[in-house]
Amino acid sequence: MTIKYSIILPVYNEEETLPELYRRLKQVVDGLDGQTEMIFVNDGSQDGSFQTLGDLAKQDKRIKVLSFSRNFGHQMAITAGLDYSSGDACVVMDADLQNPPEVIPELISVWKQGEYEIIYASRDRREGENWFKKTTARLFYSLMQKLSKTKIPINAGDFRLLDRKVVDALCSLRECHRFVRGLIDWLGFAQTSVSYEGQARFAGETKYSLYKMVKFALDGITSFSYRPLQLATCLGFLFSIAGFFYAAYAISINLFTDKTVHGWTSLIVTVLLLGGIQLITLGIIGEYIGRIFDDVKQRPLYVVRKKIGFPEEENS
Ligand code: UDP
Ligand code: MG
Repeated sequence: MTIKYSIILPVYNEEETLPELYRRLKQVVDGLDGQTEMIFVNDGSQDGSFQTLGDLAKQDKRIKVLSFSRNFGHQMAITAGLDYSSGDACVVMDADLQNPPEVIPELISVWKQGEYEIIYASRDRREGENWFKKTTARLFYSLMQKLSKTKIPINAGDFRLLDRKVVDALCSLRECHRFVRGLIDWLGFAQTSVSYEGQARFAGETKYSLYKMVKFALDGITSFSYRPLQLATCLGFLFSIAGFFYAAYAISINLFTDKTVHGWTSLIVTVLLLGGIQLITLGIIGEYIGRIFDDVKQRPLYVVRKKIGFPEEENS
């Protein structure tokens, strides 16, 4: 029986990169020993990515395209690709050539040894990424490590090979604020890594805007940690204790001295501080409730508008 591989590539406005990506990917795929499908997930691109993918799919029957009805985000694109994949091993990688396709055979050869179900490719260097991106990434991962038990490999990104068992398990988790790296770690299985040199984007700019980065970080933290909620409780206790002592002090000076009138400064400071802290803790609670609300609605994680290359009855 031949082995089947799936390569999953989320695409958002990557028109300029796609031809070069395909050229390099094709060389790698031609050298693989099994049957390979390349699933491109067009995450509501506004440029010509979909047309380019359509043209490529005409040339190469191994290419399949899923196209979303709008931009659902990188994590949903990965999820959809995995949902539609059928390979014994699935490789998830970025479509901007920051993850070199040439690493795939290495990932596969480690997988074939049969010891590991998850092989992530970690970059030695983050080439072509600016200071801001590197610093925020480092901060986020160290915060994640402190806040939750989930161990997320620091330099791994989403470039990894997953065994079919892992993909099936992952696809059964349908929570809607998805932080795929955290979910994969939560699943367990045996993991190892292969290192490669991080490369600069082939063309265009990062598709992770500041807004998307903040959303990604919040999803990561809130779906794997209760610590921020506990922070609210801790702060509450801390301020109650301080308040208790201050109240005792205030009563005593009222009873035993005549200095009670000029308390305005301390009053306003206390009110402002407490007001601020209450709003912050309410906000933290709100973040969690909002996510619970989203999960309760049970909406589909993404909506597919067009499919190319999937079996006839599935195409639309
Ligand atoms: N991407 C996506 N949907 C989005 C944002 C990004 O499918 O809303 C894709 C993008 O096309 C790329 C991958 O996700 O293939 C990683 O995005 P990007 O390179 O912009 O992120 P960075 O490498 O800067 O973290
Ligand atoms: Mg990138």
